[in-house]
Amino acid sequence: MIVAGMILCALMGLGCNSQTKQATPTPSPQAQPEPPAQPQSVITETQPMPVPSNALKINADKAWQYNKEVVGFGSRAVNSEGHKKLENYLKTKLKNDNLEIDEFTSNAPIGQFTGRNYIAKFPGKKDGIIVIAGHYDTLYNLPKFVGANDGGSSTALPLAIADALRGKPNDGYSVWLLFTDAEEAFVDWNKNDDNLYGTKHLAQKWKQDGTSAKIKAFILVDMLGDADLDVDEDVNSTPALRKVVYQAATNLGYQSHFFQRLNAFEDDHRPFGKIGVPVVDILDINYGYNGSLHHSVEDTLDKESPKSLGISGDVVLETVRLLNQ
Ligand SMILES: [Zn+2]
Repeated sequence: MIVAGMILCALMGLGCNSQTKQATPTPSPQAQPEPPAQPQSVITETQPMPVPSNALKINADKAWQYNKEVVGFGSRAVNSEGHKKLENYLKTKLKNDNLEIDEFTSNAPIGQFTGRNYIAKFPGKKDGIIVIAGHYDTLYNLPKFVGANDGGSSTALPLAIADALRGKPNDGYSVWLLFTDAEEAFVDWNKNDDNLYGTKHLAQKWKQDGTSAKIKAFILVDMLGDADLDVDEDVNSTPALRKVVYQAATNLGYQSHFFQRLNAFEDDHRPFGKIGVPVVDILDINYGYNGSLHHSVEDTLDKESPKSLGISGDVVLETVRLLNQ
């Protein structure tokens, strides 16, 4: 995942407006073209709402255990041994969860490759689907990168959410847990569309077969194991969903970890957002001082905390509960 650009100015009034204003506007009978709107926060003061005592929660210790096991496979880059081991692990963990394996072939700078998205489906009574997604591959072009947070947490969290959902009656929307493949670039994220292979493929497939029209929300989790949890508000996410996530965080008393700054994320939610699916990216890009741990071999378990996984998983489940109301 990559950051398209920091938009601190909108919140902090730093005056980094990209449009140059005319010093002396020339009166003209013709309408001046409207400047593009500056991306803005949609978060306003939010009051907590009561959460029922039987609301679903994740088991943070289990999430942490999954995170450790996944990292134990080493690098999980596409075509690696660790990637194969992790696929077998996912198949075992999700074998009783209506698991669909979505195989695809894409062209990348390394040549053609085959990838697989994994989708565990928990049926609900309401007509519609909530997708909770995270990528399970790790960075391709950095030897020794184990991606405890970037790749590890985004695999562990949906697995812990699966535990919370499994065997429980669901009166709400169906929940699909999507483990995406080949999110990371092979060579350079910014060149030749070298990114988001699994979700670009799946968004087109779901558009063609009509699935995308049934999706009420696509919730992406990424890098949420960061011990210092702070999730920026993403202007490429659907405003209404951003509000629900912030309400969910507020209901649980975790709002200080969420949406203190604006940002613009290019991540696995984008291919779905571009075909009209409501999307939200819950991403903590501020990993280490100045983001120094992102895509670094220092992205290891000791920079994470079970507590952050617990907070994030519970906020996702509370978001789902609110969407079902
Ligand atoms: Zn990454």
